[in-house]
Amino acid sequence: MQLHNEPSFRESVDLMFKRATALMDLSPGLEEKIRVCNSTYTVRFGVRLRGKIETFTGYRSVHSEHMEPVKGGIRYAMGVNQDEVEALAALMTYKCALVETPFGGSKGGLCIDPRAWDEHELEQITRRFAYELIKRDLIHPAQNVPAPDMGTGEREMAWIADQYARMNTTDINAKACVTGKPPHAGGIQGRVEATGRGVQYALREFFRHKDDKAAAGLSGDLDGKRIVVQGLGNVGYHAAKFLAAEDGAKIIAVIERDGAIVDENGIDIDALRQHMNGHQGMLAGYPHGTHVADGASILELDCDILIPAAMEGVIHKGNAARIKAPLIIEAANGPITFGADEILREKGVVIIPDMYANAGGVTVSYFEWVKNLSHIRFGRMQRRAEEARSRLLVEELERLSSDKGLGWTLTEDFKDRFLTGSDELALVRSGLDDTMRTAYQSMREIWHGRSDVQDLRVAAYIVAISRVAQTYRSKGL
Ligand code: GLU
Repeated sequence: MQLHNEPSFRESVDLMFKRATALMDLSPGLEEKIRVCNSTYTVRFGVRLRGKIETFTGYRSVHSEHMEPVKGGIRYAMGVNQDEVEALAALMTYKCALVETPFGGSKGGLCIDPRAWDEHELEQITRRFAYELIKRDLIHPAQNVPAPDMGTGEREMAWIADQYARMNTTDINAKACVTGKPPHAGGIQGRVEATGRGVQYALREFFRHKDDKAAAGLSGDLDGKRIVVQGLGNVGYHAAKFLAAEDGAKIIAVIERDGAIVDENGIDIDALRQHMNGHQGMLAGYPHGTHVADGASILELDCDILIPAAMEGVIHKGNAARIKAPLIIEAANGPITFGADEILREKGVVIIPDMYANAGGVTVSYFEWVKNLSHIRFGRMQRRAEEARSRLLVEELERLSSDKGLGWTLTEDFKDRFLTGSDELALVRSGLDDTMRTAYQSMREIWHGRSDVQDLRVAAYIVAISRVAQTYRSKGL
């Protein structure tokens, strides 16, 4: 999307990258090697649909193979183009490095309006696209592992996994060729909610640090904070739902394709989503709050936290100066253009950058990939060991109590919780929480520790680029 004579999305990512490398000590050669996209494959294929041949254009871009497999989602949208997939692939490289998932960066896309086709047709299109990518090792458990993105989900990933398995009948690791599969088809619990969950964990971590909140002029915790969410897709929906239900935040506005719903009393996210499901994804007609036709104007609403969770370029030079939120967390990839970023920083707005904020998805994808490769239920080994240790501890406490005549009694409820608190979902969530905390600390150290670093985005780029550079230095190009 080209707005207000601003650079393209890929150029915007490049400019942000260069803002960071200007503060780093990299050789110009290595800087360029890390920045550029290694390759982009374009495919045009035909599928016979509704009695005629339809031609589709798709892409798979590989930004950096400093680690393999490379990783990143496949997007279905009409606006997909080479510039966009290359920008998104670059962000995947930095995102994976920042949260220490051992992958290079990649991204794919198909120019399609998924709403225009029925399920059976989408399956034919997806299988054909997957066939083209599998043939060229652009879907492969050891080389390139896609995942869901805008317009795709568990269903499409299951078709891709099945297509790969059919074409590679002797590959024992076939399931690991794609992540984001449904749990019954080799997926992992908690992957669907993962990106939204990660946004929640990121905000919780931010609110644990007094100085960081103060930088945005905020204090206290998330309880009662007024939040505006743009996009109630998978990421926005889960983030909003968890922040409201578990942290006491108030979602005062939701922006979607057909405008916005504004309600100072807080929006019931599940009720709104249910309404949208029954009305072709439209907000109009929702019986609570006020419907505002000009959704974009609601980005400028007075609030504590703004969560753009839809797509790139929605905060640009044309509206950045009017944004009132003191804190923005980029649940989407690239929602703030390079030009807007400058304007917002000048105003003192704190931005929690995309490569960190939405890394929950790829983090849980990593758990799924490891689960598939290990051919054992995720966490089963740890769980067995933990259970054995817990049982020993409970027995020891009981023995001590009777030996010393202390008269302690451990309630059944305590024993129950202590001995069985580690199912797959619990393990995934705690692994994700731990990842989000650790990655935040690494950005924060640079943000507060270096006088030449003024914002979290540059800090995130510095951490990520240093790690990629380190890999190249140790293994060669
Ligand atoms: N599409 C998601 C992203 O942009 C997830 C990628 C993945 O799980 O590989 O981060």
